[in-house]
Amino acid sequence: MAALNRILTPLTVGTTQLPNRMVMGAMHTRLETLDRPHERLAAFYAARAEGEIGLILSGGYSPNPEGVMENGGPLFNSATQLDEHRAVTEAVHQAGGRIILQILHAGRYAKVENCVAPSPIKARINTYVPRELTTQEVWRTLEDFVNTAALAIEAGYDGVEIMGSEGYLLNEFTAALTNHREDEFGGSFDARLRLPLEIIRAVRQRIGKGAILIYRISSIDLMEGGMSGTEIANFAGQVESAGADLINTGVGWHESAVPTIGATVPRAVWRESIRNVKRAVSIPVMASNRINTPEIAEALITSGDADLVSMARPLLADPDFAKKVRLGTTDEINTCIACNQACLDRIFTERTATCLVNPRAGREIEFPKGPAPVSKRVAVVGGGPSGMAFAINASERGHRVTLFEADTQLGGQLNLAKAVPGKAEFHEMLRYFRVRLDRLNVTLNLGKTVNADDLLSGDFDEVVIATGVKPRIPDIAGIDHSKVVSYVDVLKGTVEIGSRVAIIGAGGIGFDVAEFLVGDAEESLLAEAFFRAWGVDPESERAGGLSPDNLHTSTARAVCMFQRKAEPLGKRLGKSTGWILKAKLRKAHVQMIPGAHYTAIDDDGLHYSVDGNAKVLPVDHVILCSGQIANRDLFEQLQARGVTPRLIGGADVASELDALRAIDQATRLAVAIV
Ligand code: NAP
Ligand code: SF4
Repeated sequence: MAALNRILTPLTVGTTQLPNRMVMGAMHTRLETLDRPHERLAAFYAARAEGEIGLILSGGYSPNPEGVMENGGPLFNSATQLDEHRAVTEAVHQAGGRIILQILHAGRYAKVENCVAPSPIKARINTYVPRELTTQEVWRTLEDFVNTAALAIEAGYDGVEIMGSEGYLLNEFTAALTNHREDEFGGSFDARLRLPLEIIRAVRQRIGKGAILIYRISSIDLMEGGMSGTEIANFAGQVESAGADLINTGVGWHESAVPTIGATVPRAVWRESIRNVKRAVSIPVMASNRINTPEIAEALITSGDADLVSMARPLLADPDFAKKVRLGTTDEINTCIACNQACLDRIFTERTATCLVNPRAGREIEFPKGPAPVSKRVAVVGGGPSGMAFAINASERGHRVTLFEADTQLGGQLNLAKAVPGKAEFHEMLRYFRVRLDRLNVTLNLGKTVNADDLLSGDFDEVVIATGVKPRIPDIAGIDHSKVVSYVDVLKGTVEIGSRVAIIGAGGIGFDVAEFLVGDAEESLLAEAFFRAWGVDPESERAGGLSPDNLHTSTARAVCMFQRKAEPLGKRLGKSTGWILKAKLRKAHVQMIPGAHYTAIDDDGLHYSVDGNAKVLPVDHVILCSGQIANRDLFEQLQARGVTPRLIGGADVASELDALRAIDQATRLAVAIV
């Protein structure tokens, strides 16, 4: 393992010494919408402080009601709220950590009717048209930032971060695209920078030198009409002169047509934009976006591109990330796979954030720590995500677990997912499971198909069935034709797929298979390929950092996806990642046909009708991605013998099964078994 000395080196920011260079980035969790919100937030952040993260940035709090993300969203503008914030800061400090309050005015992204902006220009991702702030209101907004900063320090925060990136209010002021003002806050480049710089100066004056002041700059806007690299570097220098202790870097606007943090984005791909900021200032600069391993973090600091690294989602995935780096047990880090499924996708659909690989995230108060009162002998059958997650969590509680898996390797459906371009992070998930199972001494029985006799004679106190799913075979004439193959064979690579393909079923797996057939794995692994595919100029020589050379994918394969529902294909994919997948498939000219009725498969191809019009698509292969059915053979065998085992994962409910539900259910069962 490469040495990880630099991320473990202390750093002084302002007058505060941080014990290491690893920072938990700001992330809105919506925990405030659950019961006992302050207790939950305190437990959530304290767990990260206990895990030795150098610094925590809170989720964004608006300085005034018109700047909230949504109605009821986080707002900190009154002394009556001090106690709820003190619950958080005291918990973090008691755990040995430091926490900063992020002040975020959502500007034209606020999903509220009275949202405001520098100019009345609607964002693509909001239904509300913002009202233009008057000059007097801009000055009042500045006062609101200062008021919130002062309240934050009074509540015990170690400083504040002023959010100036991602297309929120201050970013809207700095970009010509969204700032058409003619007063002292618009027009020239200097006038557009005025509001953020005045805020930094005023906040610094109010909170003094003892508290940390961070400004989050947009290191690349990824919007036509955004700032150029030269302007960003100039602005960074002025942020330093205005009194910031540290510059954090943001990437793109929420409405950008370029993905910035999904799993299809290569790790640390934004380093050139970050380096541009770093070279312009002498205060520390923090890198962010798609940094999920200690090695990547170390490389960013060693190369001189950044002084610290911010990791938001990786700290949801593993609160002990920094501690494991210090202890040299980085192979036990539960790595964020950048799926966005349980964090961003939930937040964007008005639910609370948690983590696919760590269901305890944001739910710390629901999962008691410590061993079970009695150590039981537990058999778990199935080595997919639910079986492995159960085995690990039960074993951590002191149970003696034996895991049976019919295949010779662990992983189940994860082994299929990792073959899809853009899903290479699943390798990390498998590594985490394997290492933890090994360290916890879970007895593994691979390549063994167990039956009811084996389990009943095995002297187990508990039997858990996690036997997963079987692909659903639809009832279509000619389904046994040699052209018909299952997605399992395709993703395993056991069949050679022809150049004309029909995919039946357009759920998560149908889309994955389409991407497998036409996608380019390099785009999610290599910076150059990614920039070329998405038209990015990483050094922002052109304003906004977009390049005209957005190359369209050419593929020799003609792929057509079908579903029976009349709605657009991909409507139910994750909100933050579905658009990326659809854009990639569109570029590869994949056809999508909703409302299909399948009539037959024969030598001519796939026969179907849409709106009563009969058609035939000549194809070499028809790939079945038509959902799953629960694999309950063993469960039923045991039931017939008078034993009712526990049932988890796809074997329990196959419909719309995903790893999120499987791991959550398994973890909860492991905690429930006493
Ligand atoms: P899914 O999301 O339930 O989609 C099943 C698809 O099959 C639908 O498009 C459905 O659309 C169609 N279908 C259902 N019954 C059919 C029938 N009898 N005949 C023909 N078509 C039928 O299931 P999935 O795609 O298998 O994904 C399962 C879960 O795993 C999802 O939550 C997904 O996000 C997750 N996932 C897993 C992987 C993996 O590799 N394991 C990868 C990506 C996603 P119509 O009924 O409209 O035809
Ligand atoms: Fe990372 Fe996925 Fe967990 Fe979000 S849900 S923190 S993206 S692993």
